[in-house]
Amino acid sequence: MIKSLAVDDAGRIIARASRPTEVHAGQDRVVRNLAAAVEDVTRQLEQAGAVMGDTMTKSIGVGVPGVLNVEKGLVVASPNFPRWEGFPLRARLEAAIGRPVLIENDANAAAVGEQWQGAAVGLKDFLFITLGTGVGGGIVLDGRLWRGPGGRAGEFGHVKVMAEGGEPCGCGSRGCLERYANASALERYVLDALPGGTKSDLQRLAYDRPDAVDPAMIAQAAQAGDAAARAAYQRFAVYLGLGIANVVNLLDLRHFILGGGVSESFDLFAPRLRDEAAARIYGVAIDEIHILKARCGNEAGALGMAYLALEKS
Ligand SMILES: [Zn+2]
Repeated sequence: MIKSLAVDDAGRIIARASRPTEVHAGQDRVVRNLAAAVEDVTRQLEQAGAVMGDTMTKSIGVGVPGVLNVEKGLVVASPNFPRWEGFPLRARLEAAIGRPVLIENDANAAAVGEQWQGAAVGLKDFLFITLGTGVGGGIVLDGRLWRGPGGRAGEFGHVKVMAEGGEPCGCGSRGCLERYANASALERYVLDALPGGTKSDLQRLAYDRPDAVDPAMIAQAAQAGDAAARAAYQRFAVYLGLGIANVVNLLDLRHFILGGGVSESFDLFAPRLRDEAAARIYGVAIDEIHILKARCGNEAGALGMAYLALEKS
């Protein structure tokens, strides 16, 4: 889904729209849908009398999942956009929209959004982690996004948490954190637990229609005290805690902001996550490590892009 926001200079959201991405229909369609999403918010602003003609938008930012060459405006690699390697997304969008466009990795954009208006306001050094279908990350060091020389810094989901074997990952490797701390890992943990004789509200449903078990159902069952669902969040927390401890030990970061759909269940996994991280960090007291729930919801990325675009304009 494409989410578009129009934001004024003061950071207030003044229009919103959404459109399907339709990746399956090919690159031209996706570019058209992105351009249409920009038109949607522009039309709203015009109807509201907020803007007119050339003054309507100063700049446009587009957050994209995957590794990008931000300077050249290219898609380098993206599991969500298979076979888009080398696609000149920025140039194509600029041709379709007729205005300058900025592109950025979506997790990096969300990190900036949280720093601007969310849980990371005032923080100079932190890792934003998105927990959803995939696991992404955005690193902010000394107040600025750290992209790395190849633009792929912050790929927290592909930090390895298994030395041998391990679940195959969309990146082509195995044992990546993403496969152990994403939404489908929660489903796997629940389904693993059920045949073992664990009593569960989800049991009947899982036996009849395993495909029907989804993260929202697991969250609901865990909130209600269901043992299998709660155990799934504990397992999830072990791997995420391992990943966070690795980052603390490598970069000495003290703040971690958790966003994405699974972070809605923050309270179900945060205590165990903290314990697991505490057991693995070196030279820092756990009291100095702050693991926080993101505040901008699914608009963090679009807000961050607006900030980056305003900054550039
Ligand atoms: Zn991977």
